[in-house]
Amino acid sequence: MSKTDGEKEILANALANAQSQTLAVRAGQSRTDEDEHSEALFLTSSYVFKDCADAAARFSGDVDGSVYSRYTNPTVRNFEQRLAAMEGAEDCIATSSGMGAIMSLCLAHLSAGDHIVCSRDVFGSTVTLLNNFFTKFGVEVSYVKLTDLDGWRDSIQSNTKLFFIETPSNPLSEVGDIRALSALANDHTILFAVDNCFCTPALQLPLALGADIVIHSATKYIDGQGRCLGGAVVGSTEHVEPVRNLVRAGGPSMSPFNAWVFLKGLETLHLRMKAHSDSAMAIATWLESQEAIEAVFYAGLESHPGHVLAKTQQSHFGGVLSFRVKGDQAAAWRFIEATQVISLTANLGDAKSTIVHPATTTHSRLSPEARATAGITDNLIRVAVGLESLDDLLIDLQRGIATL
Ligand SMILES: *Cc1c(COP(=O)(O)O)cnc(C)c1O
Repeated sequence: MSKTDGEKEILANALANAQSQTLAVRAGQSRTDEDEHSEALFLTSSYVFKDCADAAARFSGDVDGSVYSRYTNPTVRNFEQRLAAMEGAEDCIATSSGMGAIMSLCLAHLSAGDHIVCSRDVFGSTVTLLNNFFTKFGVEVSYVKLTDLDGWRDSIQSNTKLFFIETPSNPLSEVGDIRALSALANDHTILFAVDNCFCTPALQLPLALGADIVIHSATKYIDGQGRCLGGAVVGSTEHVEPVRNLVRAGGPSMSPFNAWVFLKGLETLHLRMKAHSDSAMAIATWLESQEAIEAVFYAGLESHPGHVLAKTQQSHFGGVLSFRVKGDQAAAWRFIEATQVISLTANLGDAKSTIVHPATTTHSRLSPEARATAGITDNLIRVAVGLESLDDLLIDLQRGIATL
């Protein structure tokens, strides 16, 4: 057996056994005639044809082969296949951003008169997209607290077509019961989509727990170093194909350059997610012991109401945590401004740790009542723990504590 045949056999075995770390490094690669070891970057918008008959055959789909990079690009396809393998899915379509993925999913699967039930605790732009734009086309939206299973059951209407959640939630780390929601969705032939951005397939596999669709903002942990925007819709061929057709026609396609960055990002995803999680766990535990801290929200803590459920869905608890300082908004701002290592930015999933005041930034568009219901108090701070040394991060947070 040749070396390359051996390589194929190892990949087939990893796929059969869902050996995710091997898939993260090996799945989805298609070598060119140059036999390059690292994945090739096809930075091209179009492709040449051998002759007119070849052009006609590729356009008609009678023969495989790329036509134009809005439809297919080999580097983007490599990324899609690797991510699909890691999520245990048949297929994946990459998009220009996480929001591009959510928009494309909804455009492809919903029609005027349909109804979405969305977790109240999802990413802010998701709420803006659904409320300000999909409602213009006659799509109804209801919001339910992520953890309120009775609320989800009660919100189902005859026209409900989609359940949409994010778990764990941002910034309070609430945990949605993927198995229970998928059973409920199944009973009513409702499509169930899980935004897996905070966990990534390294920590959580929503499809194996019953979800139909996984959404990603690759911008976060899949890149992992804060460089590129991208997203993905992952699931069965039946569910992904309509989204692929929408992306081809509508154009929110992923740039090949970004796909190449994400493809390489996936190779280190497991190691990074474990490191983010370990440091976040240590920081959450330390914060919980501090006199000046009122409450800490991290599903890894035994004190967190979602802890037991999270342990059944996730292999680790991820890099994002939040906490309330004893004091008001001014105290929270003083804390944030005292840190020197951790960056003041709204992004997360970066090697660089970030800190933000949700009430006046990521959640500032919510009404004060909606913020109060969601638990986004003025003394709440969110930290997305990066890959710096834990000691330096603790010293930095101590600078914040010292201001209280
Ligand atoms: C950032 C984010 C998105 C949106 O992704 P973009 O790549 O910024 O468009 C969606 N969901 C979650 C949970 C996010 O954190």
